[in-house]
Amino acid sequence: MRDRSEYIVDMPEGIDVKLNQNESPFDLPAGLKQELLDAHAQVEMNRYPSEQPEALRHALAEYDGVDPDQILVGNGSNEITYTFGLAFLDPGDPVVLPRPMFSLYEKVMRLQEADLTIVPPQDDFGFDADALATAAAETEAVLTILTTPNNPTGLAMTLDELEQVVTASSGFVVIDEAYVEFNPEGTAIDLLEQHPNVLILRTLSKGFGLAGARLGYLLAHPAVVTELMKARLPFMVDRFAEQTALAVLRRPDLIEDRVSRIEASITTLTEALQAMEGVEVVPSQANFVVFTTPLPADTLQDRLADRGVLVRNMGGYPELEGYLRVSAGTEEENNAFLDALDVSLEEAG
Ligand code: PMP
Repeated sequence: MRDRSEYIVDMPEGIDVKLNQNESPFDLPAGLKQELLDAHAQVEMNRYPSEQPEALRHALAEYDGVDPDQILVGNGSNEITYTFGLAFLDPGDPVVLPRPMFSLYEKVMRLQEADLTIVPPQDDFGFDADALATAAAETEAVLTILTTPNNPTGLAMTLDELEQVVTASSGFVVIDEAYVEFNPEGTAIDLLEQHPNVLILRTLSKGFGLAGARLGYLLAHPAVVTELMKARLPFMVDRFAEQTALAVLRRPDLIEDRVSRIEASITTLTEALQAMEGVEVVPSQANFVVFTTPLPADTLQDRLADRGVLVRNMGGYPELEGYLRVSAGTEEENNAFLDALDVSLEEAG
């Protein structure tokens, strides 16, 4: 463990505009929060919640048009990553991971002592479906993990590309759809019907704006869910988190409105960044944009932070050296970011 590092997100002092974690810029409306407080008053806090939050499991099943026994709810999708790592892998088992992808996957797979095959991206940073399918087949991977749209690039795979990797794999394929609400390609949920080796991972942290409630879930074949339940810790979803998610699921209008506002922000940010001299942008299908400028990424990150704007330096990913990632904010936050960027780049002379 001494050679490993923690998952830490920097939070410098004096930040007014926080655009570094792909969160939703919209908190729950005050009326809904009051409703939740009233509901909280009814909750028996001395009692354990059930092993799985059944009401939420049913509501999510209805939302996704699947059976409740195809769903496993967790304390954020991160917790479920741990669970399938524990359940599926013995030390030395082959696992295929594309790069650059959400860093937690590589971290958890290394903790499980998996034998990793890393597949580099194409020139445009998109995942290389041919290479992934070949790697999964040749290594007889027990597990292959894909994220679409991907964090940190914002790029989505097509359904054909996903199916190509799934068909080539004798092991499980996890498709992380954390940003599915923003994805014009839509969900890969239909793959579940014909391919029992597919697991789809979702979170309520992004489009639903509930990162603080810690809720994620898995969609899979019921037999897979049954086995994963044996590896997981019980009681991971507390009663208040369940109530919160149920209240938001009853408000699809609210989510749709917010998702379309975030999509509009992405268009605004992308166009504004493209118009700046020397700035290059990766086209995003998620709620954030990755870009590079003539300045070193750490210099620019510091200059933006000095102006109260926090973005993420992508330098930790070797493929994205020199890139920064900015999450879609409110209109005011986007403008504050763009103004701070303009001034910071001019300062470079
Ligand atoms: N998957 C991806 C691809 C992500 O980018 C993130 C958050 N950054 C997560 C999962 C984490 O989701 P959760 O908050 O549900 O643990």
